[in-house]
Amino acid sequence: MQPLLAVSGLQKVYEGSGRRVEAVRDLTFTIEPGELVCLVGPSGCGKTTLLKCVAGLLTPTGGEVLLEGRRVSGPPPGMAVVFQEYGRSLFPWMRVRENVELPLKQKSPLSRARRRELVAEALESVGLADAAGAYPWQLSGGMQQRVAIARALAYEPGVLLMDEPFAAVDAQTRADLEDLVRRLWRERGMTILFVTHDIDEAVYLGERVLVLSASPTVVQEQLKIDLPAERDQLHTRVAPRFAELRTHVYEQIQAAKRGS
Ligand code: ADP
Ligand code: MG
Repeated sequence: MQPLLAVSGLQKVYEGSGRRVEAVRDLTFTIEPGELVCLVGPSGCGKTTLLKCVAGLLTPTGGEVLLEGRRVSGPPPGMAVVFQEYGRSLFPWMRVRENVELPLKQKSPLSRARRRELVAEALESVGLADAAGAYPWQLSGGMQQRVAIARALAYEPGVLLMDEPFAAVDAQTRADLEDLVRRLWRERGMTILFVTHDIDEAVYLGERVLVLSASPTVVQEQLKIDLPAERDQLHTRVAPRFAELRTHVYEQIQAAKRGS
C-alpha cells in the first residue's frame, strides 16, 4: 500500500540578509491513511518549517513531499492546517460562523445550505454551537482555538496538520482540547499530523511518535505508542506504560541534543 504522505530527504535552508539557517537537514518518514502521528522536538528544531513544507506553503530546498504519490507544490486540496497562533488566524470582523464557513466558499461547489450544515456540525462537535453569532474577540483563547479547529473540520479534510495548537491555552483547556482531538480522530477517520514540543502531549495523543533532533533536524526515532485507544487524562497519564514511553522519548531527545 502506498503511504498517504511521504516526506523524503526534506531539507530547508533559509537564506537572506547574509544569513543562512539550515532549519531542516534531512527528514524522511511516511504516514499511513488514518494514522494519528505526533511529531515532537525542541523549540527551533524546524517543526513549523516542516509542516509548512508538507502544507505546500513553503518550497523545500531539497527532497520532496508526496501526498498520495503526487508531489506537493502548493496547498493541496483536502488538507487543513491549525496553527499555534489562533488569535491571528481568525478574522476579527467576521462572526464565528462566517470564519468557519470562509474556506468552504473556496472548496468545490457546495450549496449554501450544505455549507451551513457543515458549519453547524463542526461548531457542534467542538462544543461551540452557542457561539456561532459571536465575534472571535468576544471568546476566550481556548474557545478561539476551538473555532480554528471547527474551521478545519468543516472543510472535511483528509489530512489535518496541527502546529502546537494548544501551546498558548491554560492547562485545563489544553487537556480538554487534547481529548477533543482524539475523539474527532476516532469519529472521523482523518489522518492527523500533530506537532508539539511537549513530550507528554505527544505520548498522550499519538498512535505513533516521531522524535526530532535539535537543529539541523533529522528524525531521531519513531516510536509506536502501545497505549489503549481509550485514553483519559486521569488514568492514562499515571499508567506505568505512559511513564516508560515518556521517559524513553525524553532520553531520545537528550541523546539527539548530544548528537548521538
Ligand atoms: P520550530 O517550529 O520547531 O520551533 P521553526 O521551523 O519555526 O522551528 O524554525 C526552525 C529554524 O529556522 C529556527 O532557527 C528559526 O529561527 C529558523 N527560521 C524559521 N523561519 C525562518 C525564516 N522565515 N527565515 C529565516 N529563518 C527562519
Ligand atoms: Mg513552531
